[in-house]
Amino acid sequence: MRLLALPFESAILKKAAEIILKEHKDLSHIAVIFPTQRSKVYFQQFLAEISGREAMLLPRLYEVSEFLQEATISPYPGFLLNQWQRNLFLKEAIFQVRQDISKLFGNQLGPWEEDFLEFVTTGQRLLRFYDEILRERISFEALKKEALYTDYETHVEILANIFEHYAKLLKENRFIDPVLKETALLLDEDFLQTFKAIYFIGVITMTRTETTFFKGINTYAPLTVFFQANKKEGLISHQKVILNRWGKSEKEVHWLENNTTFNPPPSWTIRAFPQVTMQMGLILSAITQALNDGIKPHQIGIVLPDEEFKYLLLSYLSEHNLNLTMGLDIKHTLSYGFLERFFELFSSETEYGFYYQPFLGILSHPIIKTLFREEVKQWQEIVLKNNLLYVKKEILPKNRLFSFLNKIKRKLTQKTFGAFCKNLIQVLEEFHGYPELNALLEHYREIRGLNKILEALQELSTLEKLGVKIAKQPKFSHFFRFILKHLETLTYPLPARLTQAIQAMGILETRNMQFDVVIIPDMNEGLFPASSEKDLFLNTALRKRLGLPTYKDREGLYGYYFSRLTGGANRIYLSYVNDPKQGVRSRFIEKWVFEEIKKGRDLGKIEEEIKAYHHYLPFIMPQKDIQIPIKVSVRKDKNTLAYLETLKFSPSALLSYQCCPYQFYLKYVLQIPTPLEIKEWLTPQDIGQLLHITLKEVYTTWQPWEMSEEEFYHLLMRVLTEKLQQIPQFIHQPASRLGIEILKERFRFFVRQEYQDFQSGWRPQPQWLETEIEMKFKLGKRMVSLKGIPDRVDKKERFFRVIDYKTGYAPGPKQCEPGPEFKGIQLPFYLWLLNHKYGIPFQACEVLGIYDLKTEFKIKEPYKTFKHNPSIYMSEFKLWLEDTLARLFDTSKTWEKKPSPECDYCPYKSMCER
Ligand code: SF4
Repeated sequence: MRLLALPFESAILKKAAEIILKEHKDLSHIAVIFPTQRSKVYFQQFLAEISGREAMLLPRLYEVSEFLQEATISPYPGFLLNQWQRNLFLKEAIFQVRQDISKLFGNQLGPWEEDFLEFVTTGQRLLRFYDEILRERISFEALKKEALYTDYETHVEILANIFEHYAKLLKENRFIDPVLKETALLLDEDFLQTFKAIYFIGVITMTRTETTFFKGINTYAPLTVFFQANKKEGLISHQKVILNRWGKSEKEVHWLENNTTFNPPPSWTIRAFPQVTMQMGLILSAITQALNDGIKPHQIGIVLPDEEFKYLLLSYLSEHNLNLTMGLDIKHTLSYGFLERFFELFSSETEYGFYYQPFLGILSHPIIKTLFREEVKQWQEIVLKNNLLYVKKEILPKNRLFSFLNKIKRKLTQKTFGAFCKNLIQVLEEFHGYPELNALLEHYREIRGLNKILEALQELSTLEKLGVKIAKQPKFSHFFRFILKHLETLTYPLPARLTQAIQAMGILETRNMQFDVVIIPDMNEGLFPASSEKDLFLNTALRKRLGLPTYKDREGLYGYYFSRLTGGANRIYLSYVNDPKQGVRSRFIEKWVFEEIKKGRDLGKIEEEIKAYHHYLPFIMPQKDIQIPIKVSVRKDKNTLAYLETLKFSPSALLSYQCCPYQFYLKYVLQIPTPLEIKEWLTPQDIGQLLHITLKEVYTTWQPWEMSEEEFYHLLMRVLTEKLQQIPQFIHQPASRLGIEILKERFRFFVRQEYQDFQSGWRPQPQWLETEIEMKFKLGKRMVSLKGIPDRVDKKERFFRVIDYKTGYAPGPKQCEPGPEFKGIQLPFYLWLLNHKYGIPFQACEVLGIYDLKTEFKIKEPYKTFKHNPSIYMSEFKLWLEDTLARLFDTSKTWEKKPSPECDYCPYKSMCER
């Protein structure tokens, strides 16, 4: 066995390629092993570059676990299991163990039995545990001995028992666990004898199985191992452990010369940003500078401690300029999105129909929108206009869109999981056959995503062939949920771009890589180093006693990866998010700060420099402010005037104009409907409407003043309850009922107030209860139509009172005076109509009253001037009305925007660049 080592500054893959090419003319009988798949591709590139040959017989390249699988044989014949199949058998084994397994798994056993998916998360962790102790060659006996008299004693007994059943079950059914095969270490001599030499490039850590294996294969073909470390400090402890297990000493390691000619000390730029996204400023600035200085794109490496950052990178850099090794998430493809929304729709089905959210959700999916454009529009309108919280099934079947969805549902309602997967494959393939969907689904990302989905479904479709069930009951929802959960975790690869592309990867993929420019965002503790997943089955003390790696070892490795990567770079850019919620900055930044202080730099100055991030912001923000005109006024033309003459002006229209002419223009001239939204809960408007219709019905049908107070209350409650049954929010949201119960109780105040008023002689006039009154108003040479619907007009002898019910906002005394702040338009407007249409004298109106149906249940009279002198008030109102209508028809006045704090509640704010 030959042991070689390279300093961090060297390009390890390049150096290894040089040595191998020098030592062998024919590479076809050479095996080269790497810790990552990515190293293989780069290694090939170096071989081609160094040899200068266009075509050559390549050595056989393996990632380490691939080589182990190839070079070992199973102790008995059978089929090799994949990860899902291992999980299924493990679940079977757990249920075979008669020992008290609930001590370990508690009440999780029930759901596991029902549904395989419920088991998978624990199953994966359990398998990881078994794999680790098998690979570290720790026997269950040793494990039991160490766990004796600890909290883990019973657990270990159970775990050993489960594993015994698992291994037996596989053997009986002639299946092979790949890790059991690998750790049995029965070498495939025929395979190994085909090699003249074997090279392992970039050894950092190894399990006991691997060290034993590599020591063993050295007898078939000479093995050369390449380490990489800081030459001054020597090999790291993990590498020394490997040497120790091979019976070698560090003295036997031969250090090679650094193969990079120019190694000036690297420049470090470290910055703190207040937000994650702002880190893009530093990244873009670093890339721009490097490219301007002639550095090739592939010599720039971006390490992403948090994979989600890749989407931020993609929003600034084209994917053609990026080699993203972690791939993209399946869950962002259109095919997955459709499946997810389809599942949500059918899972929301109740006796009332489909819940509106998933219903609108599937309607807005691009596949459905493209295939059923017209139907989608119709259905969206139906649901929104009628505030349908549930869409009843009876109205759906004749619809083309729902026949389509039902057809898919029928196709997927299968008795076996295999048939479900096969049919799902068909459904997805059919989508890609629709010519209308070509533009959507023919993008290579969609095709790659679909291929990965189909591959996963194909693999899962064979699961039940093992003779075990996915779920106790064959349910559409179990099968579907299982598939979605699995697909959600998958990624699909993007085309590998090794040259002319910036390289982006996770920290583990940086093994054997070297870049001139290294950029690492998210340098916060918890991400760099990543926080370790808690070990479910053994604690740290027990792991130490068994010689298993602990979280400290895992974190220590980060130090190695970081030093190796930065040791070979010329420019290093690190950034972190300076927000306590993101965790403190990484220990590696702290270490760098400490080193700088040791060199004599001032701490204050270092920190000041780190916090100076503004220089980078222009890279992610527009350079110049785009001027958005604040007032874009629209002029009135002849057509507008002609149209205005046909309008009937209501108090709401006049209020809208009074508050903002532009809002009036959008609403009443362009007639843009306010965007519809589903109301899940009873809003104050709903309550207002409910009270309006209830009171109208009570006062037009009955004469409550002839009843007792109690009878009146019960009548009111009966009608209110009937009306409530017609409101979807009330039917489907049981929590709304509490609010209504409170309202009913408060209505006792209303009944008392009303009853007192009846006794003093006031009577609601049914002919004007919520009845539209219309009149013509002379405005110069024009006749303008006015209309209004008073909530209620009461009469007592020759006196009247005009009443408006309010369950929300009500104008105060200032806003009830005609003038620039006038908002209480409604009541004087109704009185004006009543006076002109029915001759009710202003003086005969005793009250312009706002009935507070929200808190106090009292009639309020904020019209102070009116109370003092109705005639003076109404003449002021007339002037205001004339002036407002005159401005409305004046062509020299534009539809100007009047921004105010009320813009926040304006339904047109999204289309008004105020
Ligand atoms: S957002 Fe403000 S300025 Fe714009 S239309 Fe509405 S009220 Fe007028």
